[in-house]
Amino acid sequence: MNFYSLNKKAPNVSFKDAVIKGLAPDKGLYFPESITALEKDFFNHIEYFSNNEIAFEVIKQFVADEIPEKELKEIIAETLSFEFPVVELEENISTLELFHGPTMAFKDVGARFMARCFGYFNKEKTDTQVTVLVATSGDTGGAVASGFLGVEGVDVVILYPSGKVSDVQEKQLTTLGKNIKALEVNGTFDDCQAMVKKAFLDEDLKSYRNLTSANSINVARWLPQMFYFFFAYKQLKSKHKDLVFSVPSGNFGNICAGIMAQQLGLPVKQFIASTNVNDIVPEYLKTGIYSPKPSKQTISNAMDVGDPSNFIRIQEIYKNNDTTLKQHLSSYSFTDKETKEAMVKIKETSNYITDPHGAVGYLGLKEYFKENEGQGVFLETAHPVKFLDVVEPVLGETIEYPQQIKEVIHKEKHAEVISTYSELVSFLKK
Ligand SMILES: *Cc1c(COP(=O)(O)O)cnc(C)c1O
Repeated sequence: MNFYSLNKKAPNVSFKDAVIKGLAPDKGLYFPESITALEKDFFNHIEYFSNNEIAFEVIKQFVADEIPEKELKEIIAETLSFEFPVVELEENISTLELFHGPTMAFKDVGARFMARCFGYFNKEKTDTQVTVLVATSGDTGGAVASGFLGVEGVDVVILYPSGKVSDVQEKQLTTLGKNIKALEVNGTFDDCQAMVKKAFLDEDLKSYRNLTSANSINVARWLPQMFYFFFAYKQLKSKHKDLVFSVPSGNFGNICAGIMAQQLGLPVKQFIASTNVNDIVPEYLKTGIYSPKPSKQTISNAMDVGDPSNFIRIQEIYKNNDTTLKQHLSSYSFTDKETKEAMVKIKETSNYITDPHGAVGYLGLKEYFKENEGQGVFLETAHPVKFLDVVEPVLGETIEYPQQIKEVIHKEKHAEVISTYSELVSFLKK
């Protein structure tokens, strides 16, 4: 299996090279050359497969021979060492809880899988030290830090916007030490992202450091996210209803993985990309005009993205045909006020606490069900404790720290403050 660049001006590469490079030399995102649907029999018997077995079936065509079967199965087992329960809230509405991993956000799966792939590829050549450089609006940083902690041959440098991530998120990315370094940027997430992009183009800097990214553009972070949708199907199959997934979306990596799962044959009626007021994609589906904007700050900050990088992959899946794309994908945006009201309503009617991102996903389902039917699942992409500063005042109650959070919350923060690109460069050259 090879991967091509969506800019079509770079050579095709193997899974390994796509993982190590992150972005193609022509700045395009990598995309698999072919997608082969899984056997009908697999779906007919999916309830007899363990999560690890499902994941292996789903990912193997993309990894091909680059990682031998035995090692790939080990990587999967380590990646998926927690639960992915579907919880029913209302008659046709369930939530898929993706927050049972070490940093309590769905990004743990992609980050852990990618880190272990790196670990495997690095075993072969121990002489090259790689630096993973990543900008985070909150959850990526923690998941990448935890996933890569202690991986040989890899340094991780995380840029996060000062004062714009929650306390729990900040602790998760600034307290681990070892091969993980945090840079607190005076600016927004977009500023962090811009610095990281500039660094990847900086030939001088690249002569000092082997830079790679760990955001959802990397195929090793993006593709494992397909697993969740299969796990949900396994749990809901006995209902014999058409599945509708609502995915709280920012960079559109998660929902794009869901659409890939559908390409592999997973029976899904519709995908809903639910966003906050950063509504680039909902607007595009309405008007046909794709117009990136600076991101606006919201209470669902992991989705404060003004130019979602993975949307281009969704367009590629549908061969750049807007009509087919719109048949399969709906998209709605919601304000912070609507999000808070939904959190309160879910608590009142189902006695369930969602984080702001999950609540946006719930709203997307409700909107879709005004005119359609199906078995709705919204992805609860993070545990509410990660957004305590929002959740507690909105619901008027305190939330207890789960074990994973207790372990980091009292640790000491270590971060270097930077304001400019040249400060980033001097840090990386040190
Ligand atoms: C990253 C994140 C999202 C957005 O996911 P994308 O793949 O970027 O669309 C949604 N919710 C939470 C909690 C996240 O951390």
